[in-house]
Amino acid sequence: MMKIPFSPPFIDKHVIDEVVDTLQSNWITTGPKVKQLELEMTKLTKTQAAVCVNSWSSGACLTLKWFGLKEGDEVILPAYTYCATALSVIHCGAKPVIVDILDDLTIDPEEVKKAITPRTKAIIAVDIAGLPCNYGALRSIIQSPEVKKLFNPETEKQWRLGRILLIADAAHSIGAKVDGLPASLQSDISIFSFHAVKNLTTAEGGCVCLNLPCHFNIEEEYRFLKVFSLNGQNKDAFTKNNGGGWRYDVLYAGLKINMPDICAAIGLAQIRQYENFLFELRKIIAHRYNDAFKNRDWYIQPILSDKKRESSYHIFPLRIINVSEQQRDSIIQRIMDKGIVVNVHFIPLPMLSIFKSLGYLMEDCPNAYLQYSCEISLPIYPQLKGEEINFIINTVIEEVEREFEMEKISNPAYLTKNYEKSI
Ligand SMILES: *Cc1c(COP(=O)(O)O)cnc(C)c1O
Repeated sequence: MMKIPFSPPFIDKHVIDEVVDTLQSNWITTGPKVKQLELEMTKLTKTQAAVCVNSWSSGACLTLKWFGLKEGDEVILPAYTYCATALSVIHCGAKPVIVDILDDLTIDPEEVKKAITPRTKAIIAVDIAGLPCNYGALRSIIQSPEVKKLFNPETEKQWRLGRILLIADAAHSIGAKVDGLPASLQSDISIFSFHAVKNLTTAEGGCVCLNLPCHFNIEEEYRFLKVFSLNGQNKDAFTKNNGGGWRYDVLYAGLKINMPDICAAIGLAQIRQYENFLFELRKIIAHRYNDAFKNRDWYIQPILSDKKRESSYHIFPLRIINVSEQQRDSIIQRIMDKGIVVNVHFIPLPMLSIFKSLGYLMEDCPNAYLQYSCEISLPIYPQLKGEEINFIINTVIEEVEREFEMEKISNPAYLTKNYEKSI
């Protein structure tokens, strides 16, 4: 039987050589490889500066602390995301304000607008599956005079920005584009994840990329973020080890979230092949899926690209018209039984115990629930072979249509009834 994992890491000779090079260099934690990966990230994203850290989650905490988030502040984010998006806000003592999504799975700018209060300090927009959000709409909301008037700056950074901070949760969207340019140019700060299942990995890792207005001194902000990510210590171990002097100072109550060189080495070997190779292979697979399903009447086409945007093809979110959550689950079970590991992105935040206990209600984000209940994420990664892709396509078609056959037998009115609903 064919066995197809969901998202194995891409490890080739270049990755192994780069890691071995680090091991033999006598320096394995933050040092020259991290510096090189940061440089590559600024090139790929065309941003002003990149700060590598040990996860998306820690990068988000760092960003929110940099902006001075504290108890009583609010951050608006979508229900349809991974828990980390909201947990980073909670870790700063602030309150996540959870809003609904559009049919393309990204945050609904109208819902964002309605959720803004004088306590709103930031928005975290999630480029779900790799598709950039509607940043144009989000920017015009936060830059509009009436919303700017509501903004209540309390720290030096907040005064300097003078409006709500727009953060991109770019955990999925490395390589995604808006108007032919990197999507990172659409927000103030983009945070990437290099977790093992992401498009580009360092096993665990993340990166904060700056695209701040011109009245910020980027070199200063970069230095602050680097120092804050290493206990607030003004001299890192690499500098001290290489004769930079033993005496140091601790400037802030910083975090300890720096990325080690041994991890950066993996990402460095991948990023050199990213745009022309790894990204292109993902794109080809996404289009093969889309072409195979697009004539099926149960298929809801995901946006891979439109007039403005191009996805990074991180997740292939298959959606099926009008299946219930239970039917979706049984389709998944039968696909898994055939050896294909699939997933669901995401269980909306209000369905998770921690957010339920904080009083968030699924009824407040009905579209997030609808999208979740009909979604199945298919395997998509560069190592997938043609025969595996064909096997996935055939199995998915067979199992989805089997579900509809079973439904038709037990309830003949079902298909026509649901069909009307979908138009
Ligand atoms: C993976 C992921 C994160 C968290 O990334 P880590 O590097 O594991 O902290 C955050 N947001 C989204 C949307 C993700 O998929």
